[in-house]
Amino acid sequence: MSTQEHPLGISFEFFPPNTDAGREKLVGVRDALACRNPRFFSVTYGAGGSTQSRTLDTVRVVRESGITTAPHLSCIGSEKSQLRDLLRQYREEGIDSLVALRGDLPSGMGGIGELRYANELVEFIREETGDHFEIAVAAYPESHPQAPSFEKDLENFVRKMRAGANLAVTQYFFTADAYFHFVERARALGVEAPIVPGIMPITNYTKLARFSDACGAEIPRWIRKQLETYGDDSHAIADFGEEVISRLCERLLEGGAPGLHFYTLNQAEPSLKVLDNLS
Ligand code: FAD
Repeated sequence: MSTQEHPLGISFEFFPPNTDAGREKLVGVRDALACRNPRFFSVTYGAGGSTQSRTLDTVRVVRESGITTAPHLSCIGSEKSQLRDLLRQYREEGIDSLVALRGDLPSGMGGIGELRYANELVEFIREETGDHFEIAVAAYPESHPQAPSFEKDLENFVRKMRAGANLAVTQYFFTADAYFHFVERARALGVEAPIVPGIMPITNYTKLARFSDACGAEIPRWIRKQLETYGDDSHAIADFGEEVISRLCERLLEGGAPGLHFYTLNQAEPSLKVLDNLS
């Protein structure tokens, strides 16, 4: 971990760009965000290994900043031998943090693999590599979309923390009370590790609405209604988004959140503006 960490324990997530222009842009974004001394950067991963090599390539670029960089690793659709090889490669590269996930299998893409859930992946990583990696897992204050109930999802969350995860990062949400409720319930079940809220800056309503439906994050009606009135006015959306997300972050921190994990979508400005408003 970096020695000059941001006092808030902030972190930033990137996805592996798939064009030369995207790769070039990411270097600038990385540098702009590295100035804020984040606790770590992370890089997403496609289930079934679809972006496996691009994740590692991106991790290499992002790590040049000197900031700890955690590749995401999902188990669905992968065999243990593939995961073992990848863990070995990460260790050889000096990587010591991971975000461990089940992932979602793209339709038509093979079998589910040998590990069905994230708790099994965390167990596997601990069996194979002991305490080498700091492991983060996903948490869902508004429930995972496939969960039969909030209680079951919470039990499953606790299971993966007990399997050896060091911290959790939540799915994004816009209702602070959902986060506080989740944390309180998790604490009551003995989870002591940090549960860091995942923050999605609002920059594009159409994409946000589509993605939120798929991942089970609720956009409150008042936010939807307001965003709908802006149509294609990206400046108005960005200004409103900045205000909403800044207030959300303020409430989360005042309520005891241990940090903020920004889903940057490979853009620096929206996260930086929110951080500036906070400080
Ligand atoms: P799990 O914790 O395994 O949960 C999945 C579902 O199964 C839940 O409904 C849960 O209640 C249930 N469940 C869990 N364990 C058990 C069990 N033992 N028995 C029965 N039911 C169980 N996706 C990607 O493809 N790539 C990424 O890089 C990526 N990064 C992400 C980062 C964060 C911070 C978050 C919040 C999500 C990310 N995702 C990513 C999305 C994630 O892969 C999906 O939400 C996926 O559907 C679930 O992954 P999980 O690790 O939370 O699964």
